[in-house]
Amino acid sequence: MTTFDFHTHSHFSDGEHSPKHLAKIASAAGIKQLALTDHDCVDGLAELKSNSLGLEIINGVEISTSWQDTEIHVLGLLIDPDHKAIQELLKNQQSLRRERIKTIHQKLCKLGITGLLEYIGNLPCKALTRTHVSNFLIREGHSKNNQKAFKVFLGKRGKVYSPANWCNLNASVSAILESGGIAVIAHPSRYSISSKKLNTLIEDFRNVGGEGLEISYPNIDQTIRKNLKIIAEKNDLYCSGGSDFHSSSRTWARIGKFPAIHDNDKAKTIFEHPNWKSKHSLHS
Ligand SMILES: [Zn+2]
Ligand SMILES: [Zn+2]
Repeated sequence: MTTFDFHTHSHFSDGEHSPKHLAKIASAAGIKQLALTDHDCVDGLAELKSNSLGLEIINGVEISTSWQDTEIHVLGLLIDPDHKAIQELLKNQQSLRRERIKTIHQKLCKLGITGLLEYIGNLPCKALTRTHVSNFLIREGHSKNNQKAFKVFLGKRGKVYSPANWCNLNASVSAILESGGIAVIAHPSRYSISSKKLNTLIEDFRNVGGEGLEISYPNIDQTIRKNLKIIAEKNDLYCSGGSDFHSSSRTWARIGKFPAIHDNDKAKTIFEHPNWKSKHSLHS
């Protein structure tokens, strides 16, 4: 049983629940340490902290990053959410997100689908994502589920596909470091890149100051997890883990439900990072 979760989302990005409700779910699941890592947004942290139900809250964020034409997600754990460096980067990322939604809206209008901006305007989110568009398409009866919405409309071969020019690896990692955080590559096995390219990514990530690798998440294949640990050990990266929880209805990704991050091996865990030791007393 895991008593921590260092990768979760709230309705400030594409999660379904408020931070307050997230704390309830985490607490009921026996979690003691919880990181909220919304996409390009730290707005939910204050609400989570004032409704923490005794949980130890870890400040987090998940930054969409462009690397060699691939979108990579970089988690920033233990950041100071009020620091200028992270605030400036997130402001820019959120504006890129708004522009992308406007482009998608225009493309949808050409297909005769209107009302996206009004729909999004009524949501509590600060970071607009394609999942919001997908939810809109489902609600309006244009798609049956998220998978189909991405395939037909939003994905790379979709009718309204709009790429985003996210910040680069140096920018996301630097902003995290400057804000006092630890940069962690999220769900490394979920990118469509070869293992050779993954090694190059990790090398580049190390070179700009990245220090962590998410090696455990729901439904991860045992062999993949072992390989990620070997990669972490070889590159002197701290291992982290999280559910990437978005919604109670996504039964495959429940809070705290993922394999342990420490077995009897040499790979270091995020708890051993000097920043972690100085800021958080509890260990899993
Ligand atoms: Zn992600
Ligand atoms: Zn995530």
